Amino acid sequence: MADERPNVVLFPFMAQGHIIPFLALAHHIEQMGYAVTFVNTPLNIKKLHKSLPPPPSSSIKLVEIAFNSADHGLPPEMENTVSGPYDLFIRLIEATPTLELPFRKLLSDLTENGEKPLCVVSDFFFGWAADVAHEFGIFHAIFSGSSGFGLACSYSLRLNLPHKHTDNAEFFLPDFPEAGKVHVTQMPFPTLVAGENDPMTKFQWKNLPKWSNGDTSREATSSLEKCMEWLDKREPKSVLYISFGSQNTISASQMMNLAKALDASSRNFIWVARPPLEGDINAEFASDKWLPEGFPQRVHDQERGLIISRWAPQVEILAHNSVAAFMSHCGWNSVLESLKNGVPLIGWPVAAEQFYNAKMLVEEVGVCVEVARGTNVEVREEDITEKIEMVMGESEEGRRMRRRAGEVKEMIEEGMRDEGDSKGSSVKAMHEFFAAANSSCF
Ligand code: UDP
Repeated sequence: MADERPNVVLFPFMAQGHIIPFLALAHHIEQMGYAVTFVNTPLNIKKLHKSLPPPPSSSIKLVEIAFNSADHGLPPEMENTVSGPYDLFIRLIEATPTLELPFRKLLSDLTENGEKPLCVVSDFFFGWAADVAHEFGIFHAIFSGSSGFGLACSYSLRLNLPHKHTDNAEFFLPDFPEAGKVHVTQMPFPTLVAGENDPMTKFQWKNLPKWSNGDTSREATSSLEKCMEWLDKREPKSVLYISFGSQNTISASQMMNLAKALDASSRNFIWVARPPLEGDINAEFASDKWLPEGFPQRVHDQERGLIISRWAPQVEILAHNSVAAFMSHCGWNSVLESLKNGVPLIGWPVAAEQFYNAKMLVEEVGVCVEVARGTNVEVREEDITEKIEMVMGESEEGRRMRRRAGEVKEMIEEGMRDEGDSKGSSVKAMHEFFAAANSSCF
């Protein structure tokens, strides 16, 4: 039976000193009548499965998101050890922003499945989680298992770094009238020695403002809403939506040519852009670095282009009446989300089975034209413009593709029909599956 209780997502940093207080919090929240989804990396979740009492004593739902220590030059199982040298701990902390994409995917999946969390409570190392939660309109809070006083001292030090400006062994943190007198020996050693060059201090300087500054989060929320408002003002069937899924990107030269093609074309577009392969895929998208000079401003002034950094509400975008075509990496979810709305595709597979998906969509289904394959081929600007025009313009081929996409949309609707005894093929298949499971014995 579906869990009707409001769901609270808890997401600690992967170290025992963080997981343990989060678990205690999880039990309290559960006792108050809320459902709890506890998120962590596979290794820690595996361990938690062994230590938590089974239902009904505990109904805390444990969810893994991908992380492998070795991918970050860390020893195996580093994210599950109780102690480690400072430099490895720093490397682990610095690797944590890679959790952002899978965490966003998790919130997206929960929201899409009608299980949108009531709130996200994340670790104080995961400042970025505030923006991610706000993107989905979810309330966000930070929980710190360490002392509030220690946290406040760090924050005040960040603002004042007084030991840099005094020869005395003692100084005052101005935010603490009572206990503000600090002796240098009371400071964490790396902060004392390296000051703002201490990697932990550097990490926190970037991290702390993300969750302490509510205004930043509000901006993030409104920039999502921005997509829908922008689409509302466009003509029906006039916008090309461009995205390479939840994890992929293209090369810098391909990105440049795609932008040039969009510049040359007169078509409206929303482009979910993330740094190319040559950049840091987890960084914010810097348009001045990766796009032709003046391009974002030009398409903005022409009121025909919206560039979204890294993540957009794809399901809602594809369901909007203004969207005419989808330039996609042909990940299967993207394909289904597109065809469910009768939106034809411009295929650009970049990895995994996306190549076969594109082949099938072009050759068998007739709802797609391929513009490129992979990330190490040259893609000419003229070819991109030509394919955009083919799918969005008045050519016979374009009309046929759109007609066909409309037919596939009807087939999908038919497959999902669930009216009393009248059931579509997908619904029937689900019933048959559970009937088979019920009648089998092992
Ligand atoms: N997605 C999204 N916003 C984005 C990028 C992706 O909501 O900016 C969602 C998209 O709706 C889809 C999933 O992420 O449900 C991507 O899955 P897919 O199978 O298409 O590709 P993958 O990311 O697995 O390569």
